Amino acid sequence: MKLVVAANLLLALLLSGGCLPAWTSDTKGHMFGYDDHNGPSHWAEEYETCAGKFQSPIDIEEHLVTQVRLPPLHFHGFQSEPISSTVTNNGHTVMLQMNMSKMASVSGGPLKGNYLFTQLHFHWGYNDSVGSEDTINNHTFPLELHIVMYKENYGTFENATHYKDGLTVLAVFYEIYETENQVYSEIVQLLPFVTMPNSQHQLKKLITLDSLLPMTKHLYFTYNGSLTTPPCLEVVTWIEFKQPILLSHYQVEAFRKLKSREGLMTHNFRPVQPLSGRPVWFNVADDMSHEKRGHDSAANPLETSYVLVSFFVLLLSVLER
Ligand SMILES: [Zn+2]
Repeated sequence: MKLVVAANLLLALLLSGGCLPAWTSDTKGHMFGYDDHNGPSHWAEEYETCAGKFQSPIDIEEHLVTQVRLPPLHFHGFQSEPISSTVTNNGHTVMLQMNMSKMASVSGGPLKGNYLFTQLHFHWGYNDSVGSEDTINNHTFPLELHIVMYKENYGTFENATHYKDGLTVLAVFYEIYETENQVYSEIVQLLPFVTMPNSQHQLKKLITLDSLLPMTKHLYFTYNGSLTTPPCLEVVTWIEFKQPILLSHYQVEAFRKLKSREGLMTHNFRPVQPLSGRPVWFNVADDMSHEKRGHDSAANPLETSYVLVSFFVLLLSVLER
């Protein structure tokens, strides 16, 4: 049994690339999915780790989070245009991969080390009232973006999945607005070309990762969790931006017209999992004290206090005369 589970994990990882759902088949010959017979409540039957204690997604209760000031997040290459971008329907989601001369990466914030971009994909629901995986105060959003990245030190995505700090996922929520989002229309208008599972299309206008993120990037929730699809490995540092991006109803509706092997892909979100006592942090402001410390930068606070104390000692000695 252990061997079968291990084989499934390996297959899922090879084919999935992240919390990206994959073309994985189990020993009974059917694939995991989001329907009654193969949905999230069945995943642990073949993937033991999906029954783990520290799974994702979770409900984030804002009154329970710990407010922190983390070092700033640094986005490298997020404003660079990729050489090419491919949109893929893999039967469980729609995914965007980028070919870049230097792969985009992220560091800072809660992360120790540099994390390289692998792919991004979306999760959505039957209608505009559901769809996101994480929820805020039990509020669900109609769509959620996951930008999957692995720790550069671990060499490959697959190798990184063996470590607790192997992956980070930058997540973005969406809300419905009356007008179309022009940046996202570049992706949305390609969806009819990848309606069928296992189909791909090239993105004509090369959009940057930065253009897909919200303007306010220093306000985010962060916690340790798992991939939200089998094999559900508990190796992900989640970074959930607080500011949602606005899309029109028709833009979100376009995702529901994609097809899986079993019909319309009306929904592909996993329900929230128990928090099991995990801390969730909210970055209220960036801690700049560790930034660009050098000979010509702002003085170290200890040095500043020393100068101030010396000044007052001098002042007192002058006044006493
Ligand atoms: Zn995902």
